[in-house]
Amino acid sequence: MKRTLMRPDGLPDSASTPVVTPLMPSVVYASESPDRLDDQYEGRAAGYTYAREGHPNADVLARRIDTMEQAPVPGLVVGSGMAAVTAVLLGMCKSGDHVVGGDQLYGRSLRMMRDDLPRLGIETTLADPTDANAIAAAIRPNTRLVLIEVVSNPTLRIADVEGIAEICRQKDVLLVVDNTFTTPRAVKPFALGADVVLHSVTKLLAGHSDVTLGWVAARQAEHAKVIYDFAVTTGLTPSPFDCWLAERGLMSFDLRFDRAEATAARLADHLGAHPLVKRVLFPTRPDHPDRARAQGLLQGHGCNMVSFELEGGRVMANAFTKGADQIAFAPTLGDVGTTLSHPASSSHRALTPDARAALGMSEGFFRVSVGLEDPEALIAAFDAGLAAAQAAK
Ligand SMILES: *Cc1c(COP(=O)(O)O)cnc(C)c1O
Repeated sequence: MKRTLMRPDGLPDSASTPVVTPLMPSVVYASESPDRLDDQYEGRAAGYTYAREGHPNADVLARRIDTMEQAPVPGLVVGSGMAAVTAVLLGMCKSGDHVVGGDQLYGRSLRMMRDDLPRLGIETTLADPTDANAIAAAIRPNTRLVLIEVVSNPTLRIADVEGIAEICRQKDVLLVVDNTFTTPRAVKPFALGADVVLHSVTKLLAGHSDVTLGWVAARQAEHAKVIYDFAVTTGLTPSPFDCWLAERGLMSFDLRFDRAEATAARLADHLGAHPLVKRVLFPTRPDHPDRARAQGLLQGHGCNMVSFELEGGRVMANAFTKGADQIAFAPTLGDVGTTLSHPASSSHRALTPDARAALGMSEGFFRVSVGLEDPEALIAAFDAGLAAAQAAK
């Protein structure tokens, strides 16, 4: 530790070391001399200078997610999932380029495709990622990249990741996969041919709804550098405390994922057998529209999201959420607690009823992010909602 007049003289000596990563909120790092700073900037010595350019808690977290995703080149933690999307789309594309996106991307990613990229002279096309031919048809000579999610929100359709990866390879277009919903527990997109993989760490990886963070990694070092430089220049910096909390959350990620997934499968079957439920969507169910692809791509996983359609309209939907008052009615996912969202009044409210109907999203359509509750208690909470909906019929 380096003594200064004003600052304390580091930590007390200890012959033993902490088992938990220390929280290091320092924005600035003091160097010994200009020569030593040269060593750092020119890569002869490792070290930090200023937190926007990198800090220990972000790097510790990034290395853990790199390992989970089997990233070929070290990735970067940024301040949110949307910061990761932004770093890729704006960092890797220039005016005159074209971008293809899945037509059911996360709401703000869709908005960036529709509004922000065109405003900056980057043309975009949306296409159905369950159909590799639809993606192929959307690709143009100036297409720079294709952005997809493996499982669509909230209709839980499964993208043809391998088919799209093959097309991107043939056409020399970069494939970017947002792996937030599926997580590396179910899918490792680099192994399937993705060039860039990103996450909203906010969701399942951190898992406790107390941080917003993102992670992004590229297959090629030159792409990683472009993303890093854009993120540092535009200040997409994550907070050390958020990184520290997310690392803590990550310790239990596998256990949380498996528990939530097993409960989700039970809940899906329970809902599917209920007379008021018109249909239920869960990737491992025999009636899932992309079952065969789900089995191969998700390697037997179903993940933690269940969507279902309740009979009736808004009146029954209101009665259901009021009756299911033990479940947070909140539009997020991946929390330790189960959350329920209603796309018609939240994520998809800007669409006309007809456009929603085309996506299979009626007033009775709900998406559930299953958490870690006792499965029996959770099912009882859903039954309370269904009983209230029945009474309102
Ligand atoms: C939430 C989410 C994002 C955005 O992440 P934030 O951390 O909220 O910025 C991006 N993609 C998907 C699939 C998401 O669910």
